[in-house]
Amino acid sequence: MHFRSIDLAGPVLGEEEQCAVRHVLESGWLTMGERVRAFETAFAAMHRASDALAVNSCTSSLHLALLALGIGKGDEVIVPGVTFVATINAVLYTGAKPVLADIGSISTPIIHPAEADALVGPRTRAVIVVHYGGYTADMDGWRTFCDRRDLFLIADAAHAPGETFAASRTDAACFSFFPNKNMTTAEGGMLLAHDPEVLSRARAMRSHGMTTLTMDRHEGHAFTYDVTMLGYNYRMDELRAAIGLAQLKRLPALNARRRRLSVLYRDLLVQDIPEATPTFSASWPTAAHLMTLLLPPGMDRNRIMADMRASGVQTSIHYPPLHLFSHHRSALGDIRLPKSEEYGRRTLTLPLHPGLSEKDVEYVVSTLREAIDRIYPAFDLPVIENRCRRASKSLHL
Ligand SMILES: *Cc1c(COP(=O)(O)O)cnc(C)c1O
Repeated sequence: MHFRSIDLAGPVLGEEEQCAVRHVLESGWLTMGERVRAFETAFAAMHRASDALAVNSCTSSLHLALLALGIGKGDEVIVPGVTFVATINAVLYTGAKPVLADIGSISTPIIHPAEADALVGPRTRAVIVVHYGGYTADMDGWRTFCDRRDLFLIADAAHAPGETFAASRTDAACFSFFPNKNMTTAEGGMLLAHDPEVLSRARAMRSHGMTTLTMDRHEGHAFTYDVTMLGYNYRMDELRAAIGLAQLKRLPALNARRRRLSVLYRDLLVQDIPEATPTFSASWPTAAHLMTLLLPPGMDRNRIMADMRASGVQTSIHYPPLHLFSHHRSALGDIRLPKSEEYGRRTLTLPLHPGLSEKDVEYVVSTLREAIDRIYPAFDLPVIENRCRRASKSLHL
């Protein structure tokens, strides 16, 4: 067998993106122009929102969402214990205190309203829910939870662009276009908010709280400006917006491909690696950003990953729990989140992106099987039983 090399993730880019970038360069207008506006409008429409704000990253989008909702020092925001570090950092930027919630279970690594209840206090202002791996959280349940307690609901939808309901029922939803996400603008992000006032505050803060834009002054609509609040430079440029518009056209097909590959992974894992547990389920609505699974307790994940790497397969860990990072441990103090910690010890992410073939997925699963067999001959047993069961079943047919 020839040596394969299978990356964990990878963007799908082509002639359309190249052509779009060339057009921007030729136009001479490089940032915050008609392409940024068109990208915002098209992205909002895809997610059933009336408007959106394009920014330079999902991290900026989360920061602006919190600020535009008025969250800051003295406030508390509930955040999942297992997510990318950007989710909690955005809360820390505002001076508010992140309060970590444990995940509901290790096989569904998202937080649940019932368990977040104990964390709500007089200072709690918002909950940030993550559509983990693209698997959408129960937004109706969270809306009810937040309405009863007068809290804002923010979705970190970095993993779920193209999922029609990723932003539904939220006060703000934040998306990422980093190259390993479902669609890319290289760096980039988007903020959706259903309240036009929230979006307009965020829009002002995207560009230093200035009352007029470069475009207004260029076109002679304005000659000067005031600064009405402390803002930032979180702008998106025309090159990125042009790439984003081209990617948006591809997104439904890219996500559909991801979903098909995920279903294939699940089938093969159940058949060939019964000791591993895929997270979530095949019927869960998803943008299929990640293919994560749980290894049995005590299995040496580093050795498995090194072994698969030697066979050309890149794997990863999404995510180490936030409260165990050095910085966050000192910022948050010593806290225990037993399910997040166990998830963090046992989770493994397999390659998933639209550029993979079915054969690639079969190869990844076979390298995982071989890695486990090489390192843990004892784990052979359940597989042999499974094969016998299947063989006897087919005899009865
Ligand atoms: C990638 C990611 C982010 C941050 O996105 P950037 O665009 O890189 O800032 C935030 N949250 C989650 C869950 C992510 O995976």
